[in-house]
This record gives sequence, C-alpha cells and structure tokens, in this order.
Amino acid sequence: MTNYTNLLKEYDLKVTPQRVAIVEELYNNGHMNIDDLYKKLLSKFPSISLATIYKNINAMVEKVFLSEVKLPNSKSVYELVKVEHAHLVCSSCGHIEDIMLDASSILEEASKITSFKIDSTNIVLSGICPKCSK
Ligand SMILES: [Zn+2]
Ligand SMILES: [Zn+2]
Repeated sequence: MTNYTNLLKEYDLKVTPQRVAIVEELYNNGHMNIDDLYKKLLSKFPSISLATIYKNINAMVEKVFLSEVKLPNSKSVYELVKVEHAHLVCSSCGHIEDIMLDASSILEEASKITSFKIDSTNIVLSGICPKCSK
C-alpha cells in the first residue's frame, strides 16, 4: 500500500485525515469530480463540508500534487499528477480513461500556424467506451 502521508509530506502539504482520504480515493478510482469525492468522504467524515473538499483540492492542485482535468460540458475531475497524457471520455456513461498520446506533433503544427505561445495542453477525446458500445 502506498504511504499517502509521506507522499503529502514530500509535496510540502499538511497531512490531515481528510487529505489522506481524498488522495486514497483518487488513487483507487482514478479521476473523480468534487461531488463524487464529497459523497465518498461523507461516509468516513460525516461532518465534512463541500467547502472543505474544495479547499483541500485547491491546496493540492497549487502544489502540483493533483491536477485538474477540465472536461467539456461537465465538471472538472482531479487526479494525482503523473506523466502528461490525454483523456478519453465516454459521452454515454461518463467513464474517463487515460491515454498516452504524444502531443508534440499537435504542438508543432500549432506553432506553425499561430504565433500564440502555447504552454499547456488539455486533450480530451470523447466517444463511446467499449462497454457502452456493446
Ligand atoms: Zn461508457
Ligand atoms: Zn488522467
């Protein structure tokens, strides 16, 4: 089992039971939005508020421990920071999956046609997942 306490310390983040629980949920479930996290954490911390979750998430995003994935037409989800990747989103069930895509050709293409200085990418591909297309 991963030691989330040490992980948080490594990122210079204060360790609280709530924070450890958030990290644990994200580690086990992959991508979750704030509402999902709130529902999960309520069972462990009946007095936790949505605002507390927001505050904790923001602190961890600020330290680049978590990253926010902005999705078109739905709430942002969060995940533990890892190597850069794109996301597949099922428009039927909302399932989100990581896909290791090399964005360098897109960036190269973009820099040819615009003088815009691009410093970040957020690639979300949507479609129907294998389960839903059955
Ligand atoms: Zn699906
Ligand atoms: Zn991801």
